Amino acid sequence: MKDQPAAPERPDAPAPAGPPAGTKPPWHALPPDQVLTSLGSTAEGLTDEEARERLSRHGPNVLERAQGDGPLKLLWRQVNSPFIWVLIASAVLAVIMGKVTDGLVVAAVVVLNTLIGFVQEYRAGKAIESLSRMVPENATVIRAGRKLRVPAAQGVPGDVMELAPGDKVPADMRLLSARNLTVEEAALTGESVPAQKAVAPVPEEAELGDRASLLFGGTLVTSGSATAVVVATGQATELGRISTLLREATDLQTPLTKALAVIGKYITLGILVISAALLGVGLVRGYAVSEAVVVAITLAVAAIPEGLPAIVTIALAIGVQRMAARRAVIRKLPAVETLGSTTVICTDKTGTLTRNEMTVQALWTTHGRYALSGVGYSPKGALTRGGPPLEAPPPDVCELLLAGALCNDAALQPRDGQWDMTGDPTEAALLVAAEKVGMHVDDARQAHPRVDAIPFESENQFMATLHDDGKGGRRILLKGAPEVVLRRCALEDGCSSSSVLAEVDGLARQGMRVLAVAYREVTVSHVALRMEDVEGGLRLLGLEGMIDPPREEAMAAVRACHEAGITVKMITGDHPSTAAAIGAQLGLLKPGEEGVTGARLATTDDAALEEVALRSNVFARVAPEHKLRLVRALQRRQHVVAMTGDGVNDAPALKQANIGVAMGITGTAVAKDAADIVLTDDNFASIVAAVEEGRRVYDNLIKSLAFVLPTNLGLALILLFGVSLFPIQEVGGRLVPLMAMLPTQLLWINLVATVSLALPLAFEAREPDVMRRAPRDPEAPVLNRFVVMRTGLVALLMTAGAIGLFLWEYRRDIPRTGNAHALAEAQTMAVNTVISFQMFYLFMCRSLMGSVRKVGLFSNRSVFVGMGLLVLLQVAFMYLPFMQRVFGTAPLGLEDVGLSILVGAVVLPVVGLEKWLRQRKDDTDASSGRGAARLRERVPT
Ligand code: ATP
Repeated sequence: MKDQPAAPERPDAPAPAGPPAGTKPPWHALPPDQVLTSLGSTAEGLTDEEARERLSRHGPNVLERAQGDGPLKLLWRQVNSPFIWVLIASAVLAVIMGKVTDGLVVAAVVVLNTLIGFVQEYRAGKAIESLSRMVPENATVIRAGRKLRVPAAQGVPGDVMELAPGDKVPADMRLLSARNLTVEEAALTGESVPAQKAVAPVPEEAELGDRASLLFGGTLVTSGSATAVVVATGQATELGRISTLLREATDLQTPLTKALAVIGKYITLGILVISAALLGVGLVRGYAVSEAVVVAITLAVAAIPEGLPAIVTIALAIGVQRMAARRAVIRKLPAVETLGSTTVICTDKTGTLTRNEMTVQALWTTHGRYALSGVGYSPKGALTRGGPPLEAPPPDVCELLLAGALCNDAALQPRDGQWDMTGDPTEAALLVAAEKVGMHVDDARQAHPRVDAIPFESENQFMATLHDDGKGGRRILLKGAPEVVLRRCALEDGCSSSSVLAEVDGLARQGMRVLAVAYREVTVSHVALRMEDVEGGLRLLGLEGMIDPPREEAMAAVRACHEAGITVKMITGDHPSTAAAIGAQLGLLKPGEEGVTGARLATTDDAALEEVALRSNVFARVAPEHKLRLVRALQRRQHVVAMTGDGVNDAPALKQANIGVAMGITGTAVAKDAADIVLTDDNFASIVAAVEEGRRVYDNLIKSLAFVLPTNLGLALILLFGVSLFPIQEVGGRLVPLMAMLPTQLLWINLVATVSLALPLAFEAREPDVMRRAPRDPEAPVLNRFVVMRTGLVALLMTAGAIGLFLWEYRRDIPRTGNAHALAEAQTMAVNTVISFQMFYLFMCRSLMGSVRKVGLFSNRSVFVGMGLLVLLQVAFMYLPFMQRVFGTAPLGLEDVGLSILVGAVVLPVVGLEKWLRQRKDDTDASSGRGAARLRERVPT
């Protein structure tokens, strides 16, 4: 299967321009300018038109994806289950014993079941495969001198691209410039230690791993920055050439499916033992051998829950799809289950809990405080200084805003009287502030061209640039976290570090993010910026304070978490006072409570960290390595931790967390690769939505189990009961058991009826209280006490109903219709009773605890589709002569049908009573604190 319809160009096709046909230039051995010329490109990149033309010539920059398991393998997986082997063996045995029809029906059912399983798994696999395409991969290209973000698939040879830490290299590229660039090439070479890269050409004969001047598509930038020109795309890249195509994560196994597979094995084994015992009983009672064997086979066929694996897969696949619709894309299927037991969510602040719509509202210079009005990316707003708007900004403010706009990688594009921004919202806010006071950022950037830069990295907490000052000299500009910038400044008289920090704190307490801006004059001989250049001797220009209000939906989501017994912890790189203010607004901190800083975490040992991690909900100025320690500390206290992250250095914490959550928009490719879930909207509320869906999936699985298992046990009991206690008949001189149901009829119930009724349960709406319960204990067994007790109760009830009606009908009919017909009628009656019983029981299963009204009678239409289908099938089963022949059924009169429905309805009051008793017990447990004790242990309040 291909990602895109157009095929990428073959690797040996001629390059777009320059290089001699047929040969592939050793890009790594050529100097950059020669590479550019060969590719018909320049440092300004291609024009849009040229790029379009090349795209149509070379095809999209995508790799052919390996398919998940092929259809044959998938089919084999359906067949290769103990359930199915027993059925196949039964079919063969039945034919050998001369029961050809029975054997064929069993075989037909095996085929049907395999096909259903195959189709469902295939669809589930496809759904999961398509998820990977929901997380966009973008690249920063330079086209005609303009920087653009385009889908990586649109990259073409000759495109000049920029790369930053965390990016996935979109194609094979030759470096044009690089700063401290390291790249992890494990995808290609298997080497996980990052390789150093540099612009200088390397010898032509260098091996792949030694071609330091080349970047390979699919590898990950771990640090530094670069510009590079694309030399090969799609299948023509090195990754495209090697045979190991990208494998999609289409594995449908999860801890739950594995647990169920184990349970399935035990059930099968148990059934085989009972079948053998039954064979023994039959022989002892004097049955003909063939009859005894058929009875034993029938038991196996009846009691094995063949439909279960398909139901589980479908429930998981539906969960994955629903989560994707709610903006949480699952990358690893087990996450669907783990989400339901999450007890702690550790989340970033900026953009996840807050809107990431930064607006500068406060300015400070040594000359005083200023306020800037307006919100968002609107040009409207005025500068004031505790009075009416100022006519013109004073020089100190101009200097501050100019430096903030130059030491900046964001860009604004006017649209409909507003601005659209690209880049970091923090930086865009600085641009908007400059524009508001009448400064034209584009002009300013032209007047002060940038010579070099040290890009912002969370670890450093600053960014620095080197510019021509327009007067023959140069200036280094530095902006970043105030503590970090101040440390590097020589302060003027009358201005102390503590007074500036007090100013910062005042702004931060209002929830503002504060950046300090500083500069240093240097001479034109300064051509490159190094870390030593910004170590000291800078002069402070001032502070810019910006608001970034919490998202409305994040506040609601935090409340939802608290109700659901999930603790929310905010982990941010921001200032402690900013973090505390936002934390208080979100309800994470009580008024007056303080957060914990990264500095404190650094000096706390692992044992003490557990307490700190449990007690505190706000962590500020945290470095990525602290995130990893926090996750580990919480996990040591038995917490199931979800952790968000976006940067390269978040990857270890994302991997360690039970659920790693990466940001789809702002997150780096590295973070996404490490994560279990990617949020397509970067929104905290989407994590909570995923938790809710995770709980629903699990509920629905339990509902399906609680529905399916009683049927199987019931059918087994009906048989056991008959074989052990029913009178033996003599037919044609042979002793045969009186059976309440024929093997084929049992199969009919077990597969056709049960599956068409149980499958809809996978679509069941979520229970209204799904987020008012404690998280599920991940250690708790799947077959919990509830499922086991319910299975026993319902199976007994079903057995009593079916056998009771069977005997009643049989006795009544013998004198009227003769033995054979009476038996057929009585057996049909028993089947009908079980099916009507199942239909009523289905409604009882739609809610675990409450009545069906709790989830809404019509909230799940597929239930009615399944029931409608089954009614039609059941009518055919009783009245179609063909079906009568195959299944040995007889048409029932209205009175008999009515009676079986009535007996089936008995399940309603009985299970209703059971639910009521259980609810009452839970309530008493809750009020005596017994049930909550375990929860308290795991979830701090
Ligand atoms: P989180 O997303 O985890 O809440 P954050 O995004 O607030 O964290 P970082 O992006 O690591 O944290 O920023 C840490 C600090 O670095 C900020 O508080 C700010 O002072 C400073 N900072 C942020 N962005 C920039 C930037 N573009 N240039 C200079 N300094 C910055």
